[in-house]
Amino acid sequence: MEKNQIIKQFIYSLTIILLSVANVYAQKNNDNKKQNYLKYYSNSYDSARIKFIETSQILKKKYPASKMFQIKVPSKTDNNLFVDILYLPSLKEKNKLFILSSGVHGIEGHVGSAIQQMFIDRFICDSLLEETGVLLIHSVNPYGYKYDRRFSENNVDINRNSSIVDTLYNIVNEGYPKVNDFINPTKKVNTRSLGNIFFAPKAIMKILKASMPVLRQAILQGQYQYPDGLYYGGNKLEPQTASLIPILTSVCEPYKTVFEIDLHTGYGERGKLHFFPNPVDSVTQKKIETIFKEERIDWGDSDGFYTVTGDFVGFIWQINKNKTFIPMAFEYGTLNTQKTSGSLKSIHIMILENEGYHYGYKKERDRIKVKNDILEMYYPSSEEWRIKIMKKTEDVYKKILPIYFNNDF
Ligand SMILES: [Zn+2]
Repeated sequence: MEKNQIIKQFIYSLTIILLSVANVYAQKNNDNKKQNYLKYYSNSYDSARIKFIETSQILKKKYPASKMFQIKVPSKTDNNLFVDILYLPSLKEKNKLFILSSGVHGIEGHVGSAIQQMFIDRFICDSLLEETGVLLIHSVNPYGYKYDRRFSENNVDINRNSSIVDTLYNIVNEGYPKVNDFINPTKKVNTRSLGNIFFAPKAIMKILKASMPVLRQAILQGQYQYPDGLYYGGNKLEPQTASLIPILTSVCEPYKTVFEIDLHTGYGERGKLHFFPNPVDSVTQKKIETIFKEERIDWGDSDGFYTVTGDFVGFIWQINKNKTFIPMAFEYGTLNTQKTSGSLKSIHIMILENEGYHYGYKKERDRIKVKNDILEMYYPSSEEWRIKIMKKTEDVYKKILPIYFNNDF
């Protein structure tokens, strides 16, 4: 080999080595960046709860006026179900309160808890707390969170059950009886039955008869007549929500303005954060639009819109009816429910999970499939999805929180 050639080969080999070292470094850097967001997610209710309590204790040392509350949720099967609450009072004037709640729909707490952890880690500081108090409500429905259900142990959807007025439970959802047989089968789940294999065409026949918006509203608005059915709102306030009333009343009392965000998953376009409040009066709507001025809010003009009765945000509003109240729900999309196919897939998964909870599964493989589907619907395993929604939320907080702190409402 000639001398020149040897030098060339040496330079070539050196370049390759340097490139691969740079590649490994970049990969590591990338992994670290991913980890910066993924670290907020936990694998289970129990580990998320420990994380929340540990973080709360650290903050309590830093801000001694803070308070921690625990609400034990009565259960026939589990002695370790709690709603955990951290209240950080504002350091100076008590003008504004910011509430962030998670896990109203149990299983959605996987994501909600992670978002709360990120908020604590990246946003809680002296300047934020100067004139603003912060209230974090962790896992409003711990049974559903722990056992991967949307509903409580009593089969109650807390987002259809929450009200300080009992008349809620007398509401009659006129459309529900027409869909009851279809959405609440009473056999053991068999995912390979003809009815399940041909679920989509069967559902489309129903849609053709009644129209999609009518069906969506009938199914999703909430109902108070079928205790084993989907979206059952109960016949009285769930015990943990009842226990929240005195805590919320005393925490909110000194503040003039209260802004609440309730965290949800499963509705909307996959990987997108939807701003999805229940309808409000025009004055409140203006306030929401001021805070979320850079975002598109679902004011009932989107294809997938529906309204609900007994929602959790509305319940906190009832407690603060003499104050300025700004209600908001965040929805992180997973299944593209804005499309008919995504919407059908979502309701099919809900039907099977509820059927399995009440009547069991024909085979173990049916149980595993439904468990896997419901988790993917509310807590996608994709790291890309988890990082994307976390980054988006951080970005939104950076915009909305200063507007909230710096304006009078
Ligand atoms: Zn939800």
